[in-house]
Amino acid sequence: MLELRGRSYVNGEPICVTIEAGRIARVEPAWPEADAAAWPWIAPGLFDLQINGHKGIWFCDPKLTAEQVLNVLEAHFAFGITRMCPTLITASFEALAAGIKAIREACESTPWADRMVPGIHLEGPHISPEDGPRGAHPLSQVRPANWDEFRRLQDISGNRIRLVTLAPETGNAAEFIRQAVASGVTVSIGHTGATPEQVTAAIDAGATLSTHLGNGAHGMIRRHPNYIWEQLGDKRLFACIITDGHHLPASVIRSVVRAKSTLHTIITCDSAGLAGCPPGPYQIESGDVEILPEGKIVVAANPQYLAGSAQLTNACVAYAIRAAGLSLHDAWNMASRNTARALKVEEQRLARGSRADLVLFDWRDSDDEIHIRATIANGELRCGKM
Ligand SMILES: [Zn+2]
Repeated sequence: MLELRGRSYVNGEPICVTIEAGRIARVEPAWPEADAAAWPWIAPGLFDLQINGHKGIWFCDPKLTAEQVLNVLEAHFAFGITRMCPTLITASFEALAAGIKAIREACESTPWADRMVPGIHLEGPHISPEDGPRGAHPLSQVRPANWDEFRRLQDISGNRIRLVTLAPETGNAAEFIRQAVASGVTVSIGHTGATPEQVTAAIDAGATLSTHLGNGAHGMIRRHPNYIWEQLGDKRLFACIITDGHHLPASVIRSVVRAKSTLHTIITCDSAGLAGCPPGPYQIESGDVEILPEGKIVVAANPQYLAGSAQLTNACVAYAIRAAGLSLHDAWNMASRNTARALKVEEQRLARGSRADLVLFDWRDSDDEIHIRATIANGELRCGKM
């Protein structure tokens, strides 16, 4: 049995959370002896559906090993992340197969890793070949939607691919979406230059999410109609946004949250495999990129295009609070409970019966940061101190 004391992220009330056998047994009011403000906040673990790697290791590296996967997963506890979708971007079939196989091995050999990975996110390769929508994905590996290829990758993953990002205009995307959704996979629209009709056809076929809405897009587009408005205005889609302070201006974050509501907006960091590396030039599979001193990762030949983020999810929650005037509770849920609902996996809550994936952290209204004190997964302390 384990007892945690802190302030509920829901309303700031001091609480005591009792954990038994990996689950929350009780959540009760508590009475601090001194100032409750000295207690950490307590919230469910963060869940990010788009993380590409860490400290130079990429999930789409064809030489990825299960040990590297475990290292990357474990590093994320320090940021309050207890669940994530390892994300593989556009690459050859062989490279995707190798990365997926390593992730499967890591999950099958290690129970905590299996709990941390509710599914793999396949971002591409069925995306737009155009500059802008394609982002930093390598053009040579972009290809039309192909259900047979996906089935083979899904077999290699042991049925772990839970989320696919594709462009509605690629190949016979609508049919691919219908089959994917029927098999339990969530389909997200992204890296697209689709017409409004193609966007609607993808949603009619079962797509329920937008991948980093507002990014992976042309630098210049027709004012309306366009693929951003079509996704923003369709209530059947959750919107995922990167709130690292570089990918979207504050006004766009506010607009997405107002259009989608706090229940249907998801925060992701979309951290690159270079997250955690020092500033400088780097060569990655898709070409040359550079980490700028302010923490931006850009395509070297075309610095207006970002190549993923160097921030982690806790930083993105803190930025979203400031940029969009959100409550801690709403912003935190956008990076935890909303993600689970969008992927139709167990929602973890600060409530009896929920799996004890919990984070203790420091944060004040005026703070730029959410500082993680401790991360507990399945009732076990994974990093920090209590
Ligand atoms: Zn992307």
